[in-house]
Amino acid sequence: MAVLPLYDALVLPDATVYLKTERFETMTGRAPRMEERVTLLILKTEQERKELKQDSFYPIGVSGAISEIHEEGWFAVKTRGRVNLDEIAFAPDGRIEAYTSRREDTEELPPQENERKTRDAKRALMDFSKGTQWEAASKPWLDQFDTLSDVAAACAPWMDATHEEKYAILAEDSAVKRAEMLEKLIYETLEMGKLSQEGSSVRQEDYQKMVRESAIKKQMEYLQKELDEMHPENVSDIRRLELKIQESQMNETARKEADKLLNRLKQEGSNSAETGMLYNYLDFLTSLSWKKEPAQEIDLDEAEKVLEEDHFGLKKVKDRILQQIAVMNLKKQQSGSILLFVGAPGTGKTSIGQSIAKALKRQYVRVSLGGVRDEADIRGHRRTYIGAMPGRVMDAIQKSGVSNPVMVLDEVDKLSMSYNGDPASALLEVLDPEQNSTFTDHYMNVPYDLSDVFFICTANTVDTIPEPLLNRMEVIQFQGYTPIEKQQIALRHLLPKAMEAVGITAEQLSVSEEAVQAIITDYTREGGVRGLKKRMDTLCRSAAVRIVRGRGDALCVTPENLREYLDMRPIHHRNVRENAVPGIVTGLAWTAAGGDILYIEAMLTKGSGQIVITGQLGDVMKESVRLAVSLVKHRFPERASVFEDHDLHIHVPDGATPKDGPSAGITLTTAIASLITGTAVPSTIAMTGEISLRGEVTPIGGLPEKLMAAQRAGVKQVLIPIDNEDDLQDVAKEVLEQLEITPVRDLNEVFSICGIMEPQPVAKAV
Ligand code: ADP
Repeated sequence: MAVLPLYDALVLPDATVYLKTERFETMTGRAPRMEERVTLLILKTEQERKELKQDSFYPIGVSGAISEIHEEGWFAVKTRGRVNLDEIAFAPDGRIEAYTSRREDTEELPPQENERKTRDAKRALMDFSKGTQWEAASKPWLDQFDTLSDVAAACAPWMDATHEEKYAILAEDSAVKRAEMLEKLIYETLEMGKLSQEGSSVRQEDYQKMVRESAIKKQMEYLQKELDEMHPENVSDIRRLELKIQESQMNETARKEADKLLNRLKQEGSNSAETGMLYNYLDFLTSLSWKKEPAQEIDLDEAEKVLEEDHFGLKKVKDRILQQIAVMNLKKQQSGSILLFVGAPGTGKTSIGQSIAKALKRQYVRVSLGGVRDEADIRGHRRTYIGAMPGRVMDAIQKSGVSNPVMVLDEVDKLSMSYNGDPASALLEVLDPEQNSTFTDHYMNVPYDLSDVFFICTANTVDTIPEPLLNRMEVIQFQGYTPIEKQQIALRHLLPKAMEAVGITAEQLSVSEEAVQAIITDYTREGGVRGLKKRMDTLCRSAAVRIVRGRGDALCVTPENLREYLDMRPIHHRNVRENAVPGIVTGLAWTAAGGDILYIEAMLTKGSGQIVITGQLGDVMKESVRLAVSLVKHRFPERASVFEDHDLHIHVPDGATPKDGPSAGITLTTAIASLITGTAVPSTIAMTGEISLRGEVTPIGGLPEKLMAAQRAGVKQVLIPIDNEDDLQDVAKEVLEQLEITPVRDLNEVFSICGIMEPQPVAKAV
């Protein structure tokens, strides 16, 4: 008798079980024969099949006989009764021998009851198949089964029952209960099937509805667009915004925010307090350009031409800008390092930013940061505030209408801290390439990509720029112009522009070169050309009045009639003094307006050895004076006693910044030495340099500006620290030509040039 192990099958008495012939062959080593008796045993786990053991089987199985054998590789077993597995043996060839005994039911199922249940189950199954693809096949298929077990076994593959549940039915000793269990399984399976059938039809409907809806929406949009085009005057503001949102290429986050607020705007109606805010916000968001502009190849020669056309001189600056453009071309980027232009007002920092934009063929915007104290000025106010506005940076982006303008941030040195946060750190976020691709303005509340913006900052000095901000930028110095450069700028740029602005032609007005020269020397005092530009404008306006009044056709401005045109007195220049007095020495200072000369004055008064400083106060300056006094005492020990019964008064006129203290080191020392030795130092000798306690002259900053100021003021000789000699290459030729520059190493050299050698009788105390 063949023994076949089964797993996860609904094995029942009085049913037909279909099996693979192959299975029979592997278990018995021969082919199945008709009517042959078989025992079906149930495996506890699927794993057991691989290595059969004594306890691999459940204790109850079923016996039956082969009823059909099919060519296609399968056969059927018609089961009869249940059996107990008493003993099992494994033959060496793999065959199983099982000793079984018949297991009786404790309760019989009456045949008519079985018939009724079978009929009901068949009907339920047929009902279920109505309207499905199995409808036609279901009746002949079901007709072949005569018992409930048969029906259940046939449906078993679709049943949602575990292996254990299936065995539990076989193990049930009451035939009545077994039938109930089978019915439950069949009807449950049918219910589940019905549900999922309904479910899928509901889903189908949903889907169809969705498709229909989106089609209708699309159609409505299309019709609305047509209507809008036919009657543009009827398009409502909200509709206009909706269209703008659709057309803009906003990023995901912005789009979501815009849609959200648009919906709120639609719900609010026109009279709510929020409407205005929502409207303004959406208007702002949609007027920004969200499009990424493609990086353009820039022709370097052409860019150079543009820069040359707009600005005279500034060679170093232009070279640096061309380098940047070349790098951007190579890297196919729209921005590079952040440039910081530093220099006196009117040296062309802002206007060259405009030229850069022109050279790059990009939009130009300027943001003035002077006096910005509030972080919100840069990063915007939160929308919850009444009257909230975007920050200046995003405002400028909106004005530019593109996402990649050249943006000049003017006067970054004038940002200041306040209780309203630190605007400099907000600016850092704008400029930092690591962060600025997702810059989030508080008002906008959605990120905007600033990484394509070409940033240029301008400042008069780097001293007040916070270190972290300064570190992000590359400093380019604008040194101020020499009179000759100014002359060229006036003739080539400022005058023609001023004439064009008021509508005067070259035939109507001519300005002699001498007159321009006179304007530069007598009517302006500056490192840049801002004042010069103003004079040119004034000159052209008064010429315009004369032309309109008809006083002569061709006007000619000369140094003689200049004052009438400008209607102002010549500026009194601080030129070097004629006479020299002990205790007064000419110094050079660096100021925000360029350079300037200043006189350091020293005087002794009767007293008790105190030091009085007036003019520019500040700790740095006080320290410098102390150092100077010590050096002089050391150098002239025989004169040191004068400091005991006299007070020393040092006056540093304003114009110098407190920071100038150290660079006035040699000037202070020389002034005191000049005073106590009674040597008058010629005021045509100017000097600048820091000093060490050992009397070494150490380098200073701002040399070009200082030398320019010296030359302007009529200084003949300038003493500079020897270590600053390299800086002379930044100084204009015409300045160097007119000055005798003497690099000095130490105090001895300074004193010997100034003639302070032999102690003279002590200057009389006042
Ligand atoms: P800054 O920003 O340094 O204060 P601006 O850029 O405002 O200076 O320049 C002031 C004016 O001087 C502008 O009208 C500018 O065109 C003009 N200007 C400055 N430098 C030059 C130059 N090198 N060539 C021609 N014009 C110049």
